[in-house]
Amino acid sequence: MSADTVPVAEWGPVTGWGRTAPTAARLIRPRTYEEAAAAVRDCGARGGIPRGLGRAYGDAAQNAGGAVLDMTGLDRIHAIDADGGTVLCDAGVSLHRLMEVLLPLGWFVPVTPGTRYVTVGGAIGADIHGKNHHVSGSFARHVLSLELLTADGGVRTVERGTPLFDATAGGMGLTGVILTATVRLQPVATSLMSVDTERAADLDDLMARLTATDHRYRYSVAWIDLLARGAATGRAVLTRGDHAPLDALPARARREPLAFRTSRLPAAPAFLPEGLLSRTSVGLFNELWYRKAPRARRGQLQRIPTFFHPLDGVPHWNRIYGRGGFVQYQFVVGHGREETLRRIVRRISAHRCPSFLAVLKRFGEADPGWLSFPVPGWTLALDVPAGLHGLGAFLDELDEEVAEAGGRVYLAKDSRLRPELLAAMYPRLDDFRALRAELDPRGVFMSDLSRRLAL
Ligand SMILES: Cc1cc2nc3c(=O)[nH]c(=O)nc-3n(C[C@H](O)[C@H](O)[C@H](O)COP(=O)(O)OP(=O)(O)OC[C@H]3O[C@@H](n4cnc5c(N)ncnc54)[C@H](O)[C@@H]3O)c2cc1C
Repeated sequence: MSADTVPVAEWGPVTGWGRTAPTAARLIRPRTYEEAAAAVRDCGARGGIPRGLGRAYGDAAQNAGGAVLDMTGLDRIHAIDADGGTVLCDAGVSLHRLMEVLLPLGWFVPVTPGTRYVTVGGAIGADIHGKNHHVSGSFARHVLSLELLTADGGVRTVERGTPLFDATAGGMGLTGVILTATVRLQPVATSLMSVDTERAADLDDLMARLTATDHRYRYSVAWIDLLARGAATGRAVLTRGDHAPLDALPARARREPLAFRTSRLPAAPAFLPEGLLSRTSVGLFNELWYRKAPRARRGQLQRIPTFFHPLDGVPHWNRIYGRGGFVQYQFVVGHGREETLRRIVRRISAHRCPSFLAVLKRFGEADPGWLSFPVPGWTLALDVPAGLHGLGAFLDELDEEVAEAGGRVYLAKDSRLRPELLAAMYPRLDDFRALRAELDPRGVFMSDLSRRLAL
């Protein structure tokens, strides 16, 4: 195949991690930058969208009837500055791979989400946040520059602080295909985490603890029991910590302080019955999870996968929701809007959503990306089986409450937001649309998400 030939494409169904609303697309996996450029030039009327490891929950990386460019075939690490702490790599490299390579050198990724099976391109495309957002901001804040393949098939070097950079950070792949990025890293002395755990009796107790002491921790998150009711509404388990210093390690672990060890359980079966996650089973799980957590424990040493990515231990865990899949709902409301958060938590609890994966976190400063999700305030994320009776109408009502409070929902998780609420949630939306109209007048970059929300 010559360098600028379009790589072989296969038609197939594509979904997000929530496995709702699959759509058929032409899947193309470029192995060179030239193949990627040829694929963009050859997208056709339904356009194309870059895709990483498909961990966006909704429809951001799918494109019904068009092309989907699987960028995981471009996954080279080009250069590591082990003194200065930067890495230059292809956008198809996963954070898992970066951890394998960088941890032994004493460096960690600046931001990691709840799974390390995301690509650098996906991390910038959704401008992802981690448990350290209140300290470090989102992923793109640590990106120094990137190379972007644009709709005309050309490649531009995009520096941070420029409009094109801010449109691309969180731009959901709609400004072009990120080919490479230079990322600033976080120095670490060990590959273990020192973790404090505590229980909060209810939502107010949880918010008070987070407000009073989050600044002491680099990483902070709370698992919240959304099925608890009455006085226990919003009870939670907080886990907060930082990278452990060398002297915190027992002698045995000090021999290999930067070893990156992971383990994986057998994959979840391909087909599980609907309704496995009923209110009763999830309620029981939540009860046990809350009770098993220590009331207060300080300085426990945990491996990186245990602290950051517990779900990665079970491959294909998203199958446990059965064929119908699941919706992840994540919103943020600003400081001063605690009453909205309280009301929404009470409503979810009253609605009896069987959610065992629900987390609350405080965001720090807003990020410069025009469609970046984080703004200072409270963010709640929860998983719900897609087939839950009345779910669509219920979440529509929550969207309205969120929008009224000046908050927003996270596009990387979304599969159902109504377009008319988007402008209120993302005030730079018009700038984003204008830049796209100029950069991509023929609408080469398209996704199911962009059509649904008129991005
Ligand atoms: C278990 C789990 C936990 C998660 N926890 C968090 C969390 O804590 N915080 C958080 O912010 N997110 C979280 N997420 C969501 C996830 O981090 C994002 O959706 C991320 O974008 C997925 O990266 P990906 O490589 O799988 O990209 P995909 O899902 O394939 O694509 C996501 C978006 O990025 C774009 N994109 C992908 N590659 C490129 C490229 N090369 N150039 C341009 N655009 C590109 C796509 O077009 C799409 O719009 C979680 C997801 C899972 C499954």
